[in-house]
Amino acid sequence: MANANVRVRFCPSPTGNPHVGLVRTALFNWAFARHNGGTMVFRIEDTDAARDSEESYNQLLDSLRWLGLDWDEGPEAGGPHAPYRQSQRMDLYRDVAEKLLAGGYAYHCYCTPLELEARRDAARAAGKPSGYDGKCRELSAEQKAAYGADGRTAIVRFRMPDEPITFTDLVRGELTFTADNVPDYGIVRANGAPLYTLVNPVDDALMEITHVLRGEDLLSSTPRQIALYKALIELGIAKDTPAFGHLPYVMGEGNKKLSKRDPEASLNVYRERGFLPEGLLNYLSLLGWSFSADQDVFSVAELIEKFDIADVNANPARFDLKKAEAINADHIRRLDVKAFTEACGPWLRAPHANWPAENFDQAAWEAIAPYAQTRLTVLSDITANVDFLFLDTPVEDEASWTKAMKEGSDALLRTAREKLADADWTSPESLKNAVLAAGEEHGLKLGKAQAPVRVAVTGRTVGLPLFESMEILGRERALSRIDAALAKLTA
Ligand code: GLU
Ligand code: ZN
Repeated sequence: MANANVRVRFCPSPTGNPHVGLVRTALFNWAFARHNGGTMVFRIEDTDAARDSEESYNQLLDSLRWLGLDWDEGPEAGGPHAPYRQSQRMDLYRDVAEKLLAGGYAYHCYCTPLELEARRDAARAAGKPSGYDGKCRELSAEQKAAYGADGRTAIVRFRMPDEPITFTDLVRGELTFTADNVPDYGIVRANGAPLYTLVNPVDDALMEITHVLRGEDLLSSTPRQIALYKALIELGIAKDTPAFGHLPYVMGEGNKKLSKRDPEASLNVYRERGFLPEGLLNYLSLLGWSFSADQDVFSVAELIEKFDIADVNANPARFDLKKAEAINADHIRRLDVKAFTEACGPWLRAPHANWPAENFDQAAWEAIAPYAQTRLTVLSDITANVDFLFLDTPVEDEASWTKAMKEGSDALLRTAREKLADADWTSPESLKNAVLAAGEEHGLKLGKAQAPVRVAVTGRTVGLPLFESMEILGRERALSRIDAALAKLTA
């Protein structure tokens, strides 16, 4: 059922490179919002000045746009709850923290890190719960004054209820957290800086978020946030507690949790290899969700039509590069030829191209492109597949040369050259027949006979269909390359 009241948020901290887990979270929120005709809010959680960077922020925006994800409220889009950068909302948090203190929902805690650690260790040794023990919950004014006179500063700590907290996770079903497991927690640092634990739910409340969809790693914050929400509702700051859904972990190599530091977790890696945005989007949407039992390639429109958070699987998802590539390859096939030739553009220019820019020939490119389109897995593969057209002499690849050039290859090439010289160079079929006939004279099947021809003409043992490639390269250039190979063989 569509629900236009849905308001979801994507709220990254601008640190490091955009990674697969982060983008999957953005995507699921976006697909859920679009499926429901609801609102996607993009908020920047930049309250950690030491780790946040403007470069990360710009990369994030750029990555989301590249993937085709948009937002209705947030940076550059504006909206009724602006600003959408937490660093610009500090007054709001200070105000809420004061109200929480005044209402008795939170209190000042003067314990030093060393004291906390000592008590934690003692509790552990005694087999007791090791979270904050509530020592400062009921300090008198005199005790506070004494701590102050001692030069101690206080953090603000939220008072958790003593009852268990139960909620129904949209992905995992009903979950209960006992009070022992969720002790009172800090919401404002001693220096006055508000923490994630405060600013994230406060902004969700002020921005009227209805569904919090985020990674499983944040599951332990949810009981705290639900308790905080209750206080915010009583204070008239929040309307309703949102629904929560925790997206499964993404596992990488060796069934280890994909960490944002793993190189294969970086979105840029896929972009630079020439994944199509729609191919990568398709694959990322399968990390914890499935389109249908018998279809895993689909368009963005189909994704939006079908996506529902209720269908997300709680089990860890496995990042499968082979599958990602296969899906991308499918999306490459789906492009119309013109879109394909344009999409390859960046890989036909410096720094990817290994030929001088002025050698590039648009007509030759357009002629070869349809053959490439049915074979590429990622767009960056195009460079090596077409460089024979734009290099003055084919690449010198020793491995290819030794693999193809066997004893007798010179004799074969000589015969092939004669027959090719008489062939019809407007017909790949005619070129093929020439090589086939040459092979027959030397007792070689087509596959064996064409290998030295391919290496002579393109420099490589594998590539696009050879005879179509030769037609596009043209008679003069192809024959002179065979001559050059013969000269090298007989030198
Ligand atoms: N800024 C937090 C993060 O990137 C957001 C967590 C959340 O979605 O609540 O981890
Ligand atoms: Zn304390």
